[in-house]
Amino acid sequence: MRLQILGSGSRGNAALLWVGGAVVLIDAGLPIRTLTARLEAARIGHKAIDHVLLSHGHLDHARSAGIIAKRHGATLHCAAKIQLHRSVSRAPDKKDLPIGGSTVLALNGSQTDAPIVTTAKVPHDCEPTVAFRIEHAGRRLTLISDMGEPREEVAKALHDPHVLMLEANYDPEMLKNGPYPQSLRERVQGAGGHLSNDQMAVMLTRLVGPNLHTVFLIHLSEKNNTPELAKASAQAALARMGRTDVAVVTALQHEALPPIKV
Ligand SMILES: [Zn+2]
Ligand SMILES: [Zn+2]
Repeated sequence: MRLQILGSGSRGNAALLWVGGAVVLIDAGLPIRTLTARLEAARIGHKAIDHVLLSHGHLDHARSAGIIAKRHGATLHCAAKIQLHRSVSRAPDKKDLPIGGSTVLALNGSQTDAPIVTTAKVPHDCEPTVAFRIEHAGRRLTLISDMGEPREEVAKALHDPHVLMLEANYDPEMLKNGPYPQSLRERVQGAGGHLSNDQMAVMLTRLVGPNLHTVFLIHLSEKNNTPELAKASAQAALARMGRTDVAVVTALQHEALPPIKV
């Protein structure tokens, strides 16, 4: 399995996964021009994407999902409830993503040796929002974003990945003193909002298993966080567990990261 984060933040999220001969796009929230340019730079050709997975219906995740699935002839997997959303509905082939369960991503119509996607429901003000684990040939990627507060059962369901993509949205001090109006501040830090650096560290501690080699911190707020603060929180949590061997990388909004092996 190979992973490339195409962009992450409140203005759009998308990641590419090459798995078992298939190409999977996880979230498609970048504007279509940006997404198309970053897919081209990643050498994703005409009709090359096989599956699109959607975590939830907010536009910073779903904005280009329907159009990109249509262009590539990809199957779009998302919760039944958001299949009528305007950003999603034009996808010609939609499949219900189970909420808290597993599904198989068929490869050329075959289920043999296909990647398995496990989902877990996370608290967020878009019903439903899911986190993923994608597993293939003994390798695992877990992606958790847009989560209002840490939840033990989510960590349990998606435990011990080789690579973890985990939301580190805000630093509580920066949020408190930042430019957001009080109502938005309350939304971000509420149980239907996003994970702070401290809450990310709680989830990280619960998710770490012997196989973890890389953590990507994703969905950083450009106004209420810095890559340095987010990284320091993750590194401190890993150090407390004696895991100084794990690489910590912050994802960027404005450019794709290089691909890595999961
Ligand atoms: Zn959201
Ligand atoms: Zn989001």
